[in-house]
Amino acid sequence: MKPTNPLRIAVQSNGRLSEPSREYLRSLGLQFNLNGRTLITPCENYKLDILHLRDDDIPEYVSREVADFGIVGENVVREKESRVRIVKRLGFGFCKLVIAVPEGSPIQSVNDLEGERIATTYPHVLAGFFRENRINAAIIPIEGSVEIAPSLNLADAICDLTQTGKTLKENHLVPLMTIMESEAVLIESMISRHEKLEFLKL
Ligand code: ATP
Ligand code: ZN
Repeated sequence: MKPTNPLRIAVQSNGRLSEPSREYLRSLGLQFNLNGRTLITPCENYKLDILHLRDDDIPEYVSREVADFGIVGENVVREKESRVRIVKRLGFGFCKLVIAVPEGSPIQSVNDLEGERIATTYPHVLAGFFRENRINAAIIPIEGSVEIAPSLNLADAICDLTQTGKTLKENHLVPLMTIMESEAVLIESMISRHEKLEFLKL
């Protein structure tokens, strides 16, 4: 019989989902030792390697079948529009993608966004929302520090992730509406492999 490669699961290396993702894997009975800053951690009691990656890269690794599974925010899966299957919602990493405006802004409703500039790290999800709502607005794609964009006059509004609303408040921004609710999800590649089915029974 041909020896098979271990399954691979990609998890966030360093961020909000890192610890809960590892906890989730441990809750399945998997044992592993995270030693230092290695990219790959082999499980001691299962034929599975854990890959530690930037969360934004996880859908790409899974859609290209380099990893069999991944744990990532549904928000990232949606934004990357990758060809992966969501296996289950994991009940952690809850957050919302909201449109927010500066306190006192004349923008008070979705329709007021017509012709305005909105900064975001989620340009695809936001573009979908604007399409559905027939709004023409300028999406300003940036990679971080979205909440300071209005005060620097880069944008009139923002579209960003929030959990408690604390960061928005600190930056004198008020949420106008939620465009997506999200939580961490287990994703899998589209190929079938009987080892994957075994893993899903854990
Ligand atoms: P990386 O360096 O891996 O790219 P990141 O800075 O993009 O990390 P984190 O801030 O660690 O990512 O967030 C990871 C995920 O946690 C988000 O994609 C989202 O699904 C979830 N999340 C939960 N609450 C929040 C929040 N308040 N702000 C941002 N993300 C949140
Ligand atoms: Zn990221």
